[in-house]
Amino acid sequence: MVWGVNHSGLGWVAYDCCMDGCLFCGIVAGEIPAEVVHRTARTVAIRDINPQAKTHVLVLPVEHHEDALALAAAAPDVLAEVVAAGAAVAEAEGIAESGYRLVFNTGPDAGRTVFHAHLHVLGGEQLGYFGRL
Ligand code: 5GP
Ligand code: ZN
Repeated sequence: MVWGVNHSGLGWVAYDCCMDGCLFCGIVAGEIPAEVVHRTARTVAIRDINPQAKTHVLVLPVEHHEDALALAAAAPDVLAEVVAAGAAVAEAEGIAESGYRLVFNTGPDAGRTVFHAHLHVLGGEQLGYFGRL
């Protein structure tokens, strides 16, 4: 249990979320700085530190789950909230009409680096084809 800023950003709440040493748990808890662009009760969306498109936002479930598959198994309603938050981010960022990509990387071949489930929201420009480099 740690303390973090609540979803309205105006108060402090206890999050029953966190795994020691997890970067995104630290961000959710407000212990590690990040540019928060959107929040719901169970998600926090932050701008990616190393953007791969003009708009690159990560939607994190507050609760720690290793990846999207673990999240789907343990809390499918939270996974749905993560995807809905991705759509809300696209609206807020002004890319809903122009189009965007939602990505869950899974495993080494996908270049996965942070093992707290997260949804990439990419857009704001014409995206390249995906697959092989
Ligand atoms: P993955 O490769 O695991 O799907 O994506 C992890 C993402 O987290 C990468 O796009 C990377 O740039 C981003 N990232 C890594 N460390 C930080 C950080 O400290 N802050 C933010 N905002 N993004 C990070
Ligand atoms: Zn975590």
